[in-house]
Parts: sequence; C-alpha cells; structure tokens
Amino acid sequence: MSGKVAIIGAGPSGCFLAQSLLKAAPELEVDLIDALPVPYGLVRYGVAADHQGTKAITRQFARVFERQGARFFGNVAVGRDVTLDELRAAYDAVVLAAGMSVDNRLGVPGDDLAGVYGAGRITRALYEHPDAEALPDLGPHPLIVGNGNVAIDLLRLLAKTPGELDGTDLGPAPTGWLAGSGIETITITGRSPAARAKFDPVMVKELARLTGVTIRVVEPGESDDPDEAKRLDALATIDGHGEGARAVTFRFGLTPAEVLGEAGRVTALRFTTPEGDETIACTSVLTAIGFGPAGDLPRDALIASARDAEAGALAPGLYATGWFRRGPRGTIPDNRADAQALAARILDELTADPARPGRALFDGRSGIVDYDGWCRIDTTETTAPPEGRCRAKITTRAGMARIASEGVTTA
Ligand SMILES: Cc1cc2nc3c(=O)[nH]c(=O)nc-3n(C[C@H](O)[C@H](O)[C@H](O)COP(=O)(O)OP(=O)(O)OC[C@H]3O[C@@H](n4cnc5c(N)ncnc54)[C@H](O)[C@@H]3O)c2cc1C
Repeated sequence: MSGKVAIIGAGPSGCFLAQSLLKAAPELEVDLIDALPVPYGLVRYGVAADHQGTKAITRQFARVFERQGARFFGNVAVGRDVTLDELRAAYDAVVLAAGMSVDNRLGVPGDDLAGVYGAGRITRALYEHPDAEALPDLGPHPLIVGNGNVAIDLLRLLAKTPGELDGTDLGPAPTGWLAGSGIETITITGRSPAARAKFDPVMVKELARLTGVTIRVVEPGESDDPDEAKRLDALATIDGHGEGARAVTFRFGLTPAEVLGEAGRVTALRFTTPEGDETIACTSVLTAIGFGPAGDLPRDALIASARDAEAGALAPGLYATGWFRRGPRGTIPDNRADAQALAARILDELTADPARPGRALFDGRSGIVDYDGWCRIDTTETTAPPEGRCRAKITTRAGMARIASEGVTTA
C-alpha cells in the first residue's frame, strides 16, 4: 500500500505509530515532524534522569528510522513553522501526536505567587530542555502537591545526594543546583487518602534506597482492597526509613485552598481537610497535577469536533494519538496499544493521492534537523561523557543545529 503520512510529534506515541504503520505497510512514506531538533519527546525531557533503563526504549524507536524507513524532520514546529492546513494538503493523512506540556495550575487564590512552580517547568529545566526557564531557588522547605508518579520522580530527585546521581545524564548546572539547593524538608501532599493515591507502589518502594533522608508517612489509613493494600504496603515500607538530614513527609487527604504569601512570594499553603483547615509553611510549592495542551495546535477544538474522538479520528485524513488524544495519563507502553489501534484505522481509511507532495513540502527549508543530524547530536552527547554521567546533553537549539549540520564534537 502506498501513501504519505505525517506524524506531528516524535515522542513515544508518534514513534509507536510509525512503527505500527510501517510494519503493516512498509512502502508507506512516514515522516515524524517535531518542534525540537531531537526526537523522543518526554523520554528525553520528562522521564527521570536516574531511570536510564526506561529511556532505553529509544533503541526500539531508533529502529523505526534505521530499519523501517521513517524520516525525522526536527526543528519544525507545526502551527508556527508550517501550518496544520499546509501539512493536510501535502500528506494523505496527518496525525497529531504532540503530547501535553503545559503545567496545570492549582486554580486557587495565590497560585500565581513567586515560588509556585509546575513540575513540568522544573523537570524540563533539570533535563536541560532547550526552551526551559532557569532553575529557581526552592528554599529549604519545598512542598509538592500531587501524588502521581511525576510527583514521586520530583521528590526522589530533590532528595538524592550527589553520589546517588551517578549513572544519570544530569548536566553540571542541574547537578550543581541540586547539590546547592539547601533543602532541609520536603513535604508531599495528596488530595486523596493514601490508599487511593495515584503513584505506582514500585516507585514509592524505590524511595527506601535513598541515603540522605528520613521518611515519615502521616496517617496512611487502612484498606482491604487488594490494589489499595499494595499502595499502603509500599508506604509502610518507606515509613521510618533512613536517618538522613532531609526530612521527607507524606501527607494525604489535603485539598489545596489558598497559597499564602508575603511580599509576593509563597510562605505557606492552606488546605481543607475533612477535619477542617490546615496550613503548612513552605518556601516553594511544586505542583505535579497534570498537564494541558500547548497553544500552537487547536487541540480542544479538534477533539470537540472529532468524528470519533475515542478512536483518535478527528476529521477525514486527520487523527490524534498518545497524550494529545487521551490527555496526560499513561506510561510509555500505554501509548503502544493506542498507536496499534490507530494504525489499523488509518490504513483502513487511507486514500493515496500521488499528486500530494508529501515531504517535498520541506524542500529548501533551512534549519531542519534530519535523523542523521540527530545521530550526530547523540554521538556527541554520549562519546566520553563526564565521570559519573552517561550523556552530556547539548542544551541549546543553536548548539544542536551546529552539531547536526557539521558533526562537530564539543570536546
Ligand atoms: C515528568 C514525566 C516523567 C515521566 N516518566 C515516565 C516514566 O518513567 N515511565 C513511563 O513509562 N512514562 C513516563 N511518563 C509518561 C510518558 O512520558 C508519556 O506516556 C509519553 O511521553 C507520552 O508520549 P507522547 O508521544 O504522547 O508525548 P510526548 O512524549 O510529550 O511527545 C510529544 C512530542 O511532540 C512534539 N511537539 C509538541 N508540539 C509540537 C508542534 N506544534 N509541532 C511539532 N512537534 C510538536 C514535542 O516536542 C514532543 O517531542 C512521564 C511523563 C512525565 C511528564
């Protein structure tokens, strides 16, 4: 079967989709277009630096380009550098796999005070996303709002000693920021009772390996439900762990009501609880409460007018998959099933029009990073990284573009 498919976003869902499409129809032209000069989305800029095993999925994704013939068009932001309409005119099918990247706000008075930061902002800065804002001063007493895996990732990274960061790809600036943070306590709060917190129990148990902390879990409660019991068991494993200087406290059943501040900066968070209000003093608030779509693609309007949103069919020849379709839920493997189902639907509906230019749309455009360019960046980053690190990321778009085009090394 012939045809031209453009996938917007080379994160896990875009890569899984390309893999499924090309497996079923190897002669298709499948192009992955990404706003960044580098592929793999949150695998590079979200998955924790100390979870390199999870990042190894990129070896599988590399085969999509190296063996299955997908093409990478990096440094092309759809909605800015090229419009969605231009892509739809050029390709037989276009798939939005652009993820969700904007931190949800707390939505309570004071959530715009200095010292309130979204988890995405912090993790992008920690993992040296080229568009990230600077890492902020969290003060000695950060408070994390949220009980999902992103919140646990953040807690673990903030709580680690410098030696515990060996084997990561954290750069010198984030490493220095963590080492010099002066954090004394970290409080992590969730709205639900402990038994219904969203985290993966395995992620919680991993905290029992931290050496620089003392962990306390306040009133986790009880449950007979098997899944809930697993979560409580994980919390029981870490309660009382360690004798380190950093005090980590887990709290549950706390609903944020107001961020309190002085001179424009956060000083405390007031919560409502079943027993009445409670205020916890803190020097910063880190919210890990989900993500929304970035503004350059009209995601909400497209989903609202979709012919079959559940299946990712937006309009004739236009589809959505991954976090862009489902919202910011689910792990990397969850995107595979999504992609497989969507690939079958696209192939069922695809009508190839040889008059469409496909990737010729990009002919003559400057600044595009192709897969070979990414390989040069990857090689530069992984050849002779500093001691204790597995990669030294290129942190600017200009640096990536230079290496992609010239193949120079930073050594
Ligand atoms: C902090 C964090 C940690 C996580 N840790 C884990 C983990 O340890 N294990 C796990 O299994 N899952 C983890 N996840 C979940 C996992 O990252 C997601 O399931 C997965 O990345 C979603 O894939 P996606 O392709 O839909 O989105 P993304 O990974 O976000 O990829 C979207 C891609 O689209 C590109 N894009 C966006 N807008 C445009 C545009 N306008 N034009 C062109 N390109 C565009 C982006 O640059 C990006 O490359 C984590 C998520 C977060 C936020």
